[in-house]
Amino acid sequence: MDFNLSSDDIAMQQSTRDVVNELLKHEPNFHETNEIPAVIDETLSNMGYYGLSIPQEYGGLEIDKVTGALVQLELARLPPQFWAPIRSALGPTPHVLVNHGSKEQKEKWLPEIASGHKKVAFALTEPDAGSDVTAMHTTAVKKEDRWVLNGTKIFITNANIADIIIVFAKTDASQGRNGISAFIVEPSTPGFSLGKPMKTMGWMVEGLFEISFDNCEIPLQNLLGEENKGFYYALEGLSEARVNVGCQALGGGDIALEHAIQYAKDRVTFGVPLASHQVIQHKLADMSMEQHVARLLLLEAAWGLQNNKDIRLQSSYVKVFCTETAHKTADSALQIFGGSGYMKGMVVERVYRDIRVLRIYEGASEIQRNMIAKQILK
Ligand SMILES: Cc1cc2nc3c(=O)[nH]c(=O)nc-3n(C[C@H](O)[C@H](O)[C@H](O)COP(=O)(O)OP(=O)(O)OC[C@H]3O[C@@H](n4cnc5c(N)ncnc54)[C@H](O)[C@@H]3O)c2cc1C
Repeated sequence: MDFNLSSDDIAMQQSTRDVVNELLKHEPNFHETNEIPAVIDETLSNMGYYGLSIPQEYGGLEIDKVTGALVQLELARLPPQFWAPIRSALGPTPHVLVNHGSKEQKEKWLPEIASGHKKVAFALTEPDAGSDVTAMHTTAVKKEDRWVLNGTKIFITNANIADIIIVFAKTDASQGRNGISAFIVEPSTPGFSLGKPMKTMGWMVEGLFEISFDNCEIPLQNLLGEENKGFYYALEGLSEARVNVGCQALGGGDIALEHAIQYAKDRVTFGVPLASHQVIQHKLADMSMEQHVARLLLLEAAWGLQNNKDIRLQSSYVKVFCTETAHKTADSALQIFGGSGYMKGMVVERVYRDIRVLRIYEGASEIQRNMIAKQILK
């Protein structure tokens, strides 16, 4: 096995780290004002990050999945709000579009998504249907030359800025998972409405919304892929997205660890730096070791994606292990900071809150363990 990164990988990783370090200078002010300066999105879109996973023929960078993971590990050192729209552009939406969209749909949307001019959202979850997707109530009924959508989706990231939302709805209620389809909905469509922003524990900007459809009529050609295949498209998109969530988690863990190491060197207790106490050294050693193991698992899954392997098992491993490892890392980092770590404005405090959600969305840990058990017991 070759564990060496290519020179291109190293260059891309380094240029991303440089950009991220520059943008991190805006973090203290962001903690004060809760406002994201426009330069953040401008810089990231100029670097082409919106198009990381989009084919070159549609204006994307279409980089190798391992390189993509390395880039995301760097981007994830930023507060998640700084690059939330990019995360959506790397998530299941473009995956479903690239793999199942018609030629017209791809030509219309992918170049705009790759350039960052059009933002995307993915709407699967409903008030009564989160982990149990098939319990969804939203329906799409075909009427002559259009589909008519009715229902409500909840916790939809970036719904307020999205130009295109991939919405999942029941097209044949009697068929369970075989009766769900995917649609492209533009929020300007009559019958679509955006709810109030939902207040969250982390990500302290408005980014999460309920959306609803009241006889929302969309053209027949907005069906994405084949009718009644939507459930499988969502699963497929989420399998890749879980590797991205692993990157978000470990990038957060990395920056928490960096801050903890620096603090342990600077802070003096009982006449010596914290880093001289063996208990603290062991804590840091465990954090570093666990982050490293998780990164190997993540890169293996990214390699599998790149090489068209079946990564269903690995992506569940990544989702659970990377998010739980990063949570442990952030918790230990905060502990090393003592009372200061609990104060607003500290990076470890921000990371601790922001990465908590990663164990919930895009398939909660319990559901991933169910999926792993199902595969190893079959
Ligand atoms: C910040 C944030 C952003 C999100 N963004 C989006 C988005 O953009 N688009 C979107 O569609 N959704 C989004 N979601 C929704 C997210 O995917 C769901 O919250 C998640 O799938 C869990 O569903 P739920 O909240 O309904 O929990 P439930 O399904 O009600 O589960 C509650 C708890 O029970 C556990 N559980 C459920 N069933 C089982 C079982 N069979 N065995 C063992 N344990 C079980 C779950 O793991 C969980 O811990 C977002 C959520 C958050 C918090």
